[in-house]
Amino acid sequence: MCRMVVFAGSCIKCGGYFTWDDLTQELPCLEAKNTGIFGYCSRGAFRDEHQFDQECDACAVDEDEGVGDVDANSSDGRAGKDDSHRKKKRQRTK
Ligand SMILES: [Zn+2]
Ligand SMILES: [Zn+2]
Repeated sequence: MCRMVVFAGSCIKCGGYFTWDDLTQELPCLEAKNTGIFGYCSRGAFRDEHQFDQECDACAVDEDEGVGDVDANSSDGRAGKDDSHRKKKRQRTK
């Protein structure tokens, strides 16, 4: 039987109830591993739910921006901007 470990709980900041998808672990049994599909076995998947409180993504992002990173103001294409920013920094230190 496969085991799906799910963590769910309340956000310690806004109090909302969330399932923490990032922490979800799928532990396939040998039978499911052979088929390559999680839960595809004679006994199916068992959902093992744990209580876990942490900041939700929205609150965590809020805090990041609160630190005062100017780049964080434009959330669109943040990854690309971070990259160019990093390159600039590297040139400066040379
Ligand atoms: Zn299984
Ligand atoms: Zn929250």
